[in-house]
Amino acid sequence: MKKSIAIIFAFIISQFHAQQGAYYQQAAKYKMNIDVNAEKFTYQGNQALEYTNNSPDELNVVYFHLYWNAFKPNSMMDQRVAGQGKNGDSRLQKDGVSRLASIPKDQEGAQNIHWIKQNGKDVKFEIQETIMKVYLAEPIKPNSTTSFTMEWDAVIPQQIRRSGRNNKEGVDMTMTQWYPKIAEYDYDGWATFDYIGREFHAPFSDFDVTIKINKDYVIGAGGILENPTEVKGYDTNAKIKAEKNKATWRWTAKNILDFAWSADKDYVVKSFDIPQGPKVFLVYQNNDKTKVWEEAQPYVTKYFQIMNSHFGKYAYPTYAFIQGGDGGMEYGMCTMILGEAKDIEGLMGLMAHEGSHSWYQQMLATNESMRPWMDEGFTSYAEGFVMYQLFPEELPNPFAKSVDAYRNFIKKGIEEPAVWLGDHHDNGTAYTYASYVKGELYLVQLGYIMGEQNLAETLKQYYDQWSMKHPSDRDFLHIAQKVSGMDLKWFQNYWINTTKTIDYGIKDVKYDAKSTTITLVNNGQVPMPIDFSVMTTDKKVITYQIPLNMTHTWKEKDIYGDFKTMPYWPWTQKEYTLIVPYTKSQLSVLGIDFSQRMADVNTEDNFVEVK
Ligand SMILES: [Zn+2]
Repeated sequence: MKKSIAIIFAFIISQFHAQQGAYYQQAAKYKMNIDVNAEKFTYQGNQALEYTNNSPDELNVVYFHLYWNAFKPNSMMDQRVAGQGKNGDSRLQKDGVSRLASIPKDQEGAQNIHWIKQNGKDVKFEIQETIMKVYLAEPIKPNSTTSFTMEWDAVIPQQIRRSGRNNKEGVDMTMTQWYPKIAEYDYDGWATFDYIGREFHAPFSDFDVTIKINKDYVIGAGGILENPTEVKGYDTNAKIKAEKNKATWRWTAKNILDFAWSADKDYVVKSFDIPQGPKVFLVYQNNDKTKVWEEAQPYVTKYFQIMNSHFGKYAYPTYAFIQGGDGGMEYGMCTMILGEAKDIEGLMGLMAHEGSHSWYQQMLATNESMRPWMDEGFTSYAEGFVMYQLFPEELPNPFAKSVDAYRNFIKKGIEEPAVWLGDHHDNGTAYTYASYVKGELYLVQLGYIMGEQNLAETLKQYYDQWSMKHPSDRDFLHIAQKVSGMDLKWFQNYWINTTKTIDYGIKDVKYDAKSTTITLVNNGQVPMPIDFSVMTTDKKVITYQIPLNMTHTWKEKDIYGDFKTMPYWPWTQKEYTLIVPYTKSQLSVLGIDFSQRMADVNTEDNFVEVK
């Protein structure tokens, strides 16, 4: 009796642990019918959503995002813009005042929910501005699917950021975050961040979207157009099918985070195939200001080829670069970007950034609200990596400008830790550096610490193991540690959770008859391994790796010169002495990190020119 109970308990406990630890992800399938009133900038919508709960938890409520409810005076977004004043995002302001405050009544964004049913039964729901809580008629058990249906109408807001009507480049409708979208439920719980202007998180979903709109509109979207011969813009032999002056467009997409589209009468559509995929669509207004789009094809082709080979293969059949007319923002299988660019390098910079979000946000779907440094930072890294090859520059490394920008930013004294939630930074510039720059330099520093080959292998394995999933920073770190054999937790903690900085220097150089003795000093708060190099008068570079004890494994080689490994430097020790077998007359330059990847905030004492 006692023994059998013990066995049952052991079984239950083992099941409990298995469930708690196992990775899962929720799944959603949307079918939507949208009828647009282009004159009034409104639409009617209905949605059938199949939602599968793969978590070990029984769900009694679900949440939806209603992003457009933010676009009105006195919304949380308006309050945030007003509250942040000069420290906030200048794009949301005009003459220092929130643009949301002056949205006219008839242009306020709205998503008015008429009713929601779960498995055919009416359910109660509550709306707190951009978050809707739905009380379920019946709980959704683990590993089961439920069906929601709903009907709503929407007002396309005045364009403030990303979504909206009649933006400054004249695009009629930018339809992003435009439908009631079920929130993500994962290891962090419900992702119910109020929308106040920053980023997103969502479950991987399938879409089947039918849009009725006046027949003279062309639609750009992230997805597969199922009826190109019945609508304007995509097929030269198309016979536009219209009912009461409206054409019907049908778009589908599989396994993306959200479906975005835009509509304009003046759009042209160009497409071309990248060898090994995807098929690329350029959707833009063809005019004097967008001429540079005509030069894009060879650059975009090379861009996808580099991304596919270095960061992992783009997983979807198509990708669309769409002129949305406000900055740039990534969505499933497409991006909305500014159309007007001064040259091809400017346009490609934007395309490379937003395109790279297909890796770091879409396929490797991290929570952008919680860990913005993982999507903006990794994307900025990929952008820098590719742009350096598309438009070569004389720089010590592809990220040298970012290291410099970080160094200059630090002098302002307003840095905030990258670990903060994206929307909760006190200062807009601090958010930009915390997420874009600090995140990019996270990878650059890892390349320096563990060697570029190990970093490239880490990025590959990260893609192989986590593509089409929701990785966290721990998952990435785990792979980096496994690939390099190094303990890297200390680095991640310093770099992401704190604003401490790196500052090493050369304290003293003594030239002797047969050698030179160098004393290095750590004046900073973040310890790092040091690559100390000398260049001889006959232009030979010898690099002395001084490992940091905390990594416990040293890199085998790196990119600069003859590579020698010295005894390690304990992180608690202030100074380090190094003797190199060269005399003063044999040396031309000595210095810390010739590659200039290490984000040392004070480089004045990092190099010595031997005279
Ligand atoms: Zn970005």
